[in-house]
Amino acid sequence: MIKLATVSPCYNEEEVLEQSADHLTALFEELIRQEKISDDSVIVFVNDGSRDRTWEIITRLHSRNPRIRGINLANNVGHQNAIMAGMMTAKDWADAVITLDADLQDDYRTCIPQMVDDFLSGNDIVYGVKVSRKADPLLKRMSAQAFYRLQEKMGVNSIFNHADFRLMSRRALEMLAGYKERNLYLRGLIPLLGLKSATVDDHISEREAGRSKYTLHKMLGLALDGITSFSVKPIYYVIYLGFFFLLISLGIGLYVIHAFISHTEVAGWASLILSIWLVGAMLMISIGTVGLYIAKIYEEVKHRPLYNISQILD
Ligand code: UDP
Ligand code: MG
Repeated sequence: MIKLATVSPCYNEEEVLEQSADHLTALFEELIRQEKISDDSVIVFVNDGSRDRTWEIITRLHSRNPRIRGINLANNVGHQNAIMAGMMTAKDWADAVITLDADLQDDYRTCIPQMVDDFLSGNDIVYGVKVSRKADPLLKRMSAQAFYRLQEKMGVNSIFNHADFRLMSRRALEMLAGYKERNLYLRGLIPLLGLKSATVDDHISEREAGRSKYTLHKMLGLALDGITSFSVKPIYYVIYLGFFFLLISLGIGLYVIHAFISHTEVAGWASLILSIWLVGAMLMISIGTVGLYIAKIYEEVKHRPLYNISQILD
């Protein structure tokens, strides 16, 4: 029997939170009856600086059912940091912590018991891997696929189609606590721990209520963190691009010499204007790429805390 904690980050989840809490509580009671998890297991909700009634609801749920605990973050720090806040707090409350989104889109009913089994058979980490994304809108599905492919190309070593639905042992969490980076990309970081892991198949469903809180802006931010935190390949590509342009310029040079010797006149406007804009664009992209890494270094060296906890209900 293990003492289990689930951690769910919540950002403006007033529409779905009560349902989620009910469903998780029901599952916990079933697992307690089956003597899989102990009676002092907890369900943790992290309020990520919501602007709606989310914290109010968590407070009420906690007063009705002490199994439900709440962590109130002082401001919105985003999904990854909110999960981190939850895991770092909950690791002192349980033997293993499962992170899952508050909207319960993951197949928690089948996956959580499997994750617990895998933990009991000696795995420190169990990844939930999405096997079908039928419930996701087409655009989200396509962008997610492109995102994983791009990461693979950039040499980021992450688990395909795994999105932070995962069990971690206390030992794994203690190790994770030693990674002090600010640009958190947990999916890339956790495989680096090198601990024994397993995967379970996760058939995701649609949100029961509310809308996705992952705006395009937030997704792009995550995608960038996912690459810049684990790979410097983009900088190499910039250098390769430079050599490629050098080759082209050599070709053009030969052509110019040839034109000079054979006294042919070369019309200039089109090729000049094109080169100026093309080279200008490439330079900006290149400087931007390097700049991005500098910006990430800037954020890392300041070493600001990832989150501030204003209240814990335990
Ligand atoms: N979330 C968060 N902070 C944010 C954005 C999202 O804590 O700034 C939480 C959100 O409440 C949810 C989870 O992250 O529990 C995943 O978000 P969502 O379900 O909106 O994303 P999707 O499933 O559409 O990728
Ligand atoms: Mg969701």
